[in-house]
Amino acid sequence: MKYNVVHRGDDISFRLMQTFHKLVQKFELVHDEQDPDIVLSIGGDGTLLHAFHQYKDQLETTAFVGIHTGRLGFFADWKPDEVELLAELMGESARQNDLRIVKYPLVEIQITTPHGIETQLALNEFTLKGIDATLTAQLHINDEPLETFRGDGICISTPAGSTAYNKSLGGAIVHPSLDAIQIAEIASINNRVYRTLGSAIILPKHHHCDIYPRASQNILLSLDHVYNQRNDILSIRSMVAAGKKVKFARFRPFPFWSRVREAFIGYEAAHEQKP
Ligand code: NAP
Repeated sequence: MKYNVVHRGDDISFRLMQTFHKLVQKFELVHDEQDPDIVLSIGGDGTLLHAFHQYKDQLETTAFVGIHTGRLGFFADWKPDEVELLAELMGESARQNDLRIVKYPLVEIQITTPHGIETQLALNEFTLKGIDATLTAQLHINDEPLETFRGDGICISTPAGSTAYNKSLGGAIVHPSLDAIQIAEIASINNRVYRTLGSAIILPKHHHCDIYPRASQNILLSLDHVYNQRNDILSIRSMVAAGKKVKFARFRPFPFWSRVREAFIGYEAAHEQKP
């Protein structure tokens, strides 16, 4: 089994990476930066997003696993003091040639500009915001107009990203076994003149959403942690990416709802008996 490590760059993550390299020498694991079967991300969820974008052209053959060094750790669900256990379980999995994985859906966007169509993928979400003015855009679902949006922006997330920016916007947390995307408004203007739905909506995999920003607007487009200023966007189509998923290697069970509890409530608080 071939592996690579991507780390956040701080001392703790760097030292953990060195420890991991040493630990796996006794197992059937080969360090391969170009074509790894497993990418170990050491840092936070942000580090895993970086790892995803580094390897997004080889999602068929690459699975991810994360150790979190001091931050939230929604994707990165192994603790630093479990590095030895993780190395052993990875070694065992390599020896038995048995890698357990879960697959999560991604959002695909097709950006139409005067020069053609660009296709991009995101693990958490993409967002569209106005830079020097509020964003004005027509929103269509399955080629039918839904609303004219005016406000700070629009966030379209995956189930995996539903616990990230989407959650701060009041969107629902969606289990990643559902092939869906969620559209959440970022501070929409609602009055007698401008009207939006006002609640987040979830689209199944066979639906799509088109956003038509007002012509020549300066727009900030984000894909996960990557931000770009654009003024050439004619429209953006988003949908559940067909035939492309991100794979996470699972060396022990850690159900999604347990991760939600650990990240946002805490085990103690969840078990507290209230009078
Ligand atoms: P950041 O601003 O440094 O960190 C954003 C926070 O979101 C970190 O605590 C990160 O966890 C956490 N996070 C990332 N993905 C998550 C997920 N799927 N579920 C739960 N929490 C998650 O930015 P960054 O580290 O480069 O990450 C980019 C992400 O930040 C974007 O994809 C977006 O979702 C999020 N973001 C959130 C807001 C908001 O909530 N108002 C605004 C902008 C962007 P770690 O600490 O473990 O890295």
